[in-house]
Amino acid sequence: MFNIAKKEDLPLPWAIKSRNIIQIAIILFLLNIGWQFYRFVTYFKTRGSTGFVQRPPSVESFLPISALVALKSWLVNRTFDTIHPAALAIFLSILLISFMYKRGFCSWICPIGAVSEMLWKIGKRLFGRNPRLPRYLDLLLMIPKYLILIFFLKVVLLDMNANTAAAFLDTPFNKIADAKMLEFWIRPGITTIKIVTVLVLLSIMFKNFWCRYLCPYGALLGVVSLPSPVKVSRDRERCIHCKACNRACPNQIEVDQKLRVDSVECTGCLDCIESCESSALSLKVLNTDKVVSPKTYALLLMGTFFLVIFIAKATGHWNTSLGYEDYRRLIPIMDMLSH
Ligand code: SF4
Ligand code: SF4
Repeated sequence: MFNIAKKEDLPLPWAIKSRNIIQIAIILFLLNIGWQFYRFVTYFKTRGSTGFVQRPPSVESFLPISALVALKSWLVNRTFDTIHPAALAIFLSILLISFMYKRGFCSWICPIGAVSEMLWKIGKRLFGRNPRLPRYLDLLLMIPKYLILIFFLKVVLLDMNANTAAAFLDTPFNKIADAKMLEFWIRPGITTIKIVTVLVLLSIMFKNFWCRYLCPYGALLGVVSLPSPVKVSRDRERCIHCKACNRACPNQIEVDQKLRVDSVECTGCLDCIESCESSALSLKVLNTDKVVSPKTYALLLMGTFFLVIFIAKATGHWNTSLGYEDYRRLIPIMDMLSH
């Protein structure tokens, strides 16, 4: 299943550069998607006085709650959501790559993860370092993301039955949740602006502040990634205990203390591998000596992510069943719709 690379091939400075290139490419792609969707929504809000553009289905990647309800409905009703099928397809793809390749989504694909990384790197340039919180406070602050995750999992996976899940997906609110999400971000209230400003400042100070302490999506992927067969492993014989890996890890993992990094916080960024001048670190498959090179890891991660999306498109699980008339009716009144 995995290509076997020689240890001598590692570490490769290739991974950091290609990871950053992929992050930037995805941000540019999403900005383009956002612009296209903005024009789509504007067309209906102005009752056709601007030019019509097609709605990009990928915009549904920003609907994780709808995707979670769609997953529940798919499991119990055996019907794949037709309102936001791309949301469910992307969600399934992210769950699959997290299960197989740790939280690689967070450090290679997620635009929020990319922005977080850019911000703490700016902070590092400005202040020379990113401070760390005391361990007790660090652990305490990690609790909210799990509480938020448990809340959503309980409400959606446990409390919702087959009928309520299907009914939610069919509500006018869910049908234009993407348009409401756009409105929320392009016309933020004063509270939103204040919260985002505080988060940006904290993200400049501390590495991955949002991802580490607040993101329930990342918390879910961390749990899903626990059985992942591919993990960073340390060769005890080669390690000279220089701790360069610890300093490189953006997620405060003490790599030099582990033989295998099982942590839910590992985002598969490979920075530790690249920082190790003794080639003591590599990605290994289960408890074998099979080594996955950073290049192969990136190809598997990205390839699996896009393969699931390709399958969704090829099998008709990508485009919404909503039509022009639905949007013409719902978008002008979206401010009045709530769940
Ligand atoms: S960077 Fe390499 S040699 Fe240094 S402590 Fe980490 S694993 Fe050991
Ligand atoms: S352990 Fe290595 S791969 Fe995992 S987050 Fe830390 S630096 Fe990245």
